Amino acid sequence: MKFSFLIALMFSTVLLNAQQTQYTYKDIRIKPVTHATFQMWYAGKYYLVDPSVESNTLNELAKPDYIIYTDIHFDHFNPNNLDSLNLKPTTVIIAPDAVKKLIEEKLPNKKFKIQVLANGESASLGKIKIDAIPMYNITPERLQFHTKGRGNGYVLHMGKRNIYISGDTEDTPEMRALKNIDVAFLCMNLPYTMDVDHAASATLAFKPKVVIPYHYRGKDGLSDVDTFKKKVNVEDSNIKVELLKWY
Ligand SMILES: [Zn+2]
Repeated sequence: MKFSFLIALMFSTVLLNAQQTQYTYKDIRIKPVTHATFQMWYAGKYYLVDPSVESNTLNELAKPDYIIYTDIHFDHFNPNNLDSLNLKPTTVIIAPDAVKKLIEEKLPNKKFKIQVLANGESASLGKIKIDAIPMYNITPERLQFHTKGRGNGYVLHMGKRNIYISGDTEDTPEMRALKNIDVAFLCMNLPYTMDVDHAASATLAFKPKVVIPYHYRGKDGLSDVDTFKKKVNVEDSNIKVELLKWY
């Protein structure tokens, strides 16, 4: 009896720590690459978010229809990576103005189709709509990392599903006021964004159906996403916390 209990306990611990390499929500397929970089497929289109890896592994997959950048930092925008990606003639880059300027500065001889979005602006990308959401620090000693207005988080409206990508941010009023989010990618790393307590508190405020911790490698290693999951689910067991393999 004791032994089987131990086995069950071990198994549940393994399950708790299991990190998936892919995740499918309804008709949207998601693949984490690393840290802030991931891929999404919906209705025959491939969306590549913050490609920043040094290797060209992203080229082993189809050419992206859309590249979505949140901010200028190296873990989000990497000119070498953009330079090495195979793109379609129709590939559109969605970016805040600061990233567009950096693209033009770093890759002056290349031509890209860039759709600039400022905080609060929206655009149609084929069948989907995208809204740019402010992303910024609010804690006084972290203000220098992300000033309000430079970077974008995003909400992607894919059919009936709404996908939130936080970018690098703390739990701003704009985040806490989000409505009808199906899947939320939420950053949690110190000192650059927020800790797991604030990330859990924000999750409980805007109540996405699914929350995916991402961007959780900080100055002192990885944030404790198991604790994040527990903090969310002890208050609201209806919110699914999906732990994917980012590192
Ligand atoms: Zn970052």
